[in-house]
Amino acid sequence: MAFSGHCMCGAVAWTYSGDITRNLVCHCTDCQRATSSPFTAFLGMRPEQLRWTGDITHYESSPETFRGFCPACGTRLYFRSARWPTEIHVHAATLSEPGQYRPDAQVLTRSRAEWLDQLQSIPAHEGFQQPPSAARP
Ligand SMILES: [Zn+2]
Ligand SMILES: [Zn+2]
Repeated sequence: MAFSGHCMCGAVAWTYSGDITRNLVCHCTDCQRATSSPFTAFLGMRPEQLRWTGDITHYESSPETFRGFCPACGTRLYFRSARWPTEIHVHAATLSEPGQYRPDAQVLTRSRAEWLDQLQSIPAHEGFQQPPSAARP
């Protein structure tokens, strides 16, 4: 399978040709903090089959665990850990076609944001939310 992706500003792009080693949503507290989001989704890839263009900055978020991001726009790009030495976990949200993405597992659900259970019952707007005054007749 072939995949491609890029950061928000386009300074960093990637292409991958190979098997997806894992495809999951991570609810861990580190991912919540690192991505400023209630959860994130990853595609596991073989590092030797993944090609990057552009400059990437990374930091060690925990021992022997690195998180990469675009220094120009801040988009999170990957997670890599000595715990999974033959894989790099690329943020699925950077896919060229993120609308096609479907995860097949969730991990670290013990720290899953509880309010996610209420999403279906929270008022939803296809565009931006209307000011409350405009919503009244
Ligand atoms: Zn960028
Ligand atoms: Zn995580």
